[in-house]
Amino acid sequence: MKIAIVGAGPAGLYFAYLMKKADPAHDILVLEQNQKGATYGFGVVFSDAALTHLEDADDAFYAALDARAEHWDDLTIVHRGERVPIDGNGFSGISRLALLEILQDLCAEAGVEVCHGETIEDLERFDDCDLVVGADGVNSTVRRLLDARFQPQVSELTNRFIWYGTGKVFPTLSLTFRSHDTGSYVAHHYRYAPDKSTFIVECDAETFERGGFEQMEPEASRRLCEEIFASDLEGHPLISNTSIWRRFPVLTNANWRAGNTVLIGDALRSIHFSIGSGTRLAMEDAIALFQAFQKQPGKVSDALDLFIEGRKPQVEKLLSGARGSYEWYEEFASRLALDPMALAYDYMTRSGRVSEERLAKIAPRFTNAWRAQRSSAPPVLR
Ligand SMILES: Cc1cc2nc3c(=O)[nH]c(=O)nc-3n(C[C@H](O)[C@H](O)[C@H](O)COP(=O)(O)OP(=O)(O)OC[C@H]3O[C@@H](n4cnc5c(N)ncnc54)[C@H](O)[C@@H]3O)c2cc1C
Repeated sequence: MKIAIVGAGPAGLYFAYLMKKADPAHDILVLEQNQKGATYGFGVVFSDAALTHLEDADDAFYAALDARAEHWDDLTIVHRGERVPIDGNGFSGISRLALLEILQDLCAEAGVEVCHGETIEDLERFDDCDLVVGADGVNSTVRRLLDARFQPQVSELTNRFIWYGTGKVFPTLSLTFRSHDTGSYVAHHYRYAPDKSTFIVECDAETFERGGFEQMEPEASRRLCEEIFASDLEGHPLISNTSIWRRFPVLTNANWRAGNTVLIGDALRSIHFSIGSGTRLAMEDAIALFQAFQKQPGKVSDALDLFIEGRKPQVEKLLSGARGSYEWYEEFASRLALDPMALAYDYMTRSGRVSEERLAKIAPRFTNAWRAQRSSAPPVLR
């Protein structure tokens, strides 16, 4: 098969690698607008469950990822300066660049051609391809060019967020809530290398306005965020990688394919970073698409239908969990009246899919501590 893949992010590279490894006769070309070594952001996280799925799909990729990732078992909620550890939340963090390097090396070994510095602006050059994969991220050009057929829907959340890095190393994935003169803030932070962490700052629209971030120079924004989280950063600066304040776009597509062109990863749908699953989902799309072609070799239309039929219900379930999660963040300032333990419980059950019984199985240490506090004193609102 002749396959063109637009975008050398996790979804595009992983799909290219799996297909070429399974059948070296495939002619696969990946086109990426960025130069090699350039990317946005800092680190990404995978839950233990996501890693198991990746391990099942391909040993070589999993082994390379595992060797370079940072691991931890607990999630930590920090509120009013108090740390609440939540067990049963194993995650691994890796730099986005390291992840891309691993995938680029595997693609090179398998014989996939990856062309960097190639921006796709039309689809005519793919007329002779059997399959075209739009893996070009949340602002996908492939999707835009076939807009009428994919029928995307996009809306933006009201919260603002900005993605920084820092040299401060955090022991676990942490959520730190801080109140400031300008309003309420939360940082999502975790280490992704022995000496580096991701540090995403989020606030609601009113806080963003009161803080004056809209008119602020990027350097002043960075310094104000450092001031708000000074006690967490302990003197380490926040690092910008052309970091800008954004609103999260909630994106879905009514149709996942248009003829022999299919979308995967963020081009297909975005998933809120608070459930830490964007990269995981993008790579699981790649696995599902690859597996559909294993079942329907050479039959592009049948394989695409099989991919959509099998994958859509799984994605819809995750999106519904993500909805519960981002709705919680959109309202997080109103929850800060809860004491740290009650806030942590409220957070853990935010998706609507985790009951107290289920939480007791996932995080027995935390649930026991929460139950002990609740029986001695009801949640304190102040
Ligand atoms: C603040 C923030 C925090 C996040 N945190 C996490 C996290 O902790 N864990 C996690 O799993 N995910 C996280 N994500 C999401 C994650 O980054 C994405 O979900 C993931 O990268 C999607 O992979 P992808 O391959 O679909 O798209 P991308 O990684 O976006 O790759 C798309 C590629 O296509 C290229 N491209 C775009 N247009 C063209 C064109 N016209 N021609 C050629 N190339 C093109 C782009 O340059 C890019 O390299 C976060 C996202 C944000 C915004």
